[in-house]
Amino acid sequence: MPKREIKISKICGFCFGVQRAVELTSKALGNKREASKRNVWSLGEIIHNPQVIKKLKKRGLSVTKSLNVINPGDILIIRSHGEKIEKIEEAKKKKLKIIDATCPLVKNVQQIAVGLKNEGFAVVIVGDKKHPEVVALRSFAGKNTKVISSLSEAKKLKLKKKKIGLIAQTTQSLSDYKKIASSIAGLGYKQLHIFNTICETTVIRQKLAVEIAGKVDIMFVIGGAQSANTQRLAQICFATGTATKKIEDASQVKKQWLSGKSKIGITSGTSTPGWVVEKVVKSIKSKTTLRVR
Ligand code: SF4
Repeated sequence: MPKREIKISKICGFCFGVQRAVELTSKALGNKREASKRNVWSLGEIIHNPQVIKKLKKRGLSVTKSLNVINPGDILIIRSHGEKIEKIEEAKKKKLKIIDATCPLVKNVQQIAVGLKNEGFAVVIVGDKKHPEVVALRSFAGKNTKVISSLSEAKKLKLKKKKIGLIAQTTQSLSDYKKIASSIAGLGYKQLHIFNTICETTVIRQKLAVEIAGKVDIMFVIGGAQSANTQRLAQICFATGTATKKIEDASQVKKQWLSGKSKIGITSGTSTPGWVVEKVVKSIKSKTTLRVR
């Protein structure tokens, strides 16, 4: 049997924003048991990873889509993607104890959006319209906001306002964003302010993933099915021409995928905990003989 090798990206597991959100939630749940006995809720899942959510639910976290089911005095965790400003106001009126786990980088983009709105700019967000981060961001950016997700949509952009502020969902591809920005720059608006709001961790993760994908026979991208950055990592690895498998956990690794593959690469989305990555590596190793680098 040929000597096989597994290359794991130097940046795997939680990013700092996700780590922070999980720690804040854990602390709130700890406090609940020991002292306050308040119920702990999140509006939607605090991060896009089913294994982590399952563990937090076991410890008492309740996930809901509606504030109506939450009682005054209960704890509400704002997830790492942020929340719509209207919902935050409603939660304050209900006298919920809010723990804001919005990633500081996402919060920064929200503040840029508010600044642009206040200065009379129409805000254009490059991102996925349905993603919770974009839904929340849009609420901060005001009613003149447009969300676009592709170069073709950018080319067709028509806005009444002459002053445009361009921002991106933090997990967008930087190269795609640059193309979209230069296309909008060619539309002749009087003022165009472009902000690079893409998270650097995401960019570095993508760069390392492409480097590894270029050197291996098969690439595994580990992360939740709803995770936007995991999806993007898988797309860019696939675009290198290397066989790419997007999986949530070790149980999804199939032995036949490894047949004839001597070099195997691994990366993960930002909301995938390190222990899930370790289990995938273990599973791959158990199905073949590998050197890990
Ligand atoms: S990927 Fe970046 S922006 Fe998103 S939660 Fe992590 S650190 Fe924050």
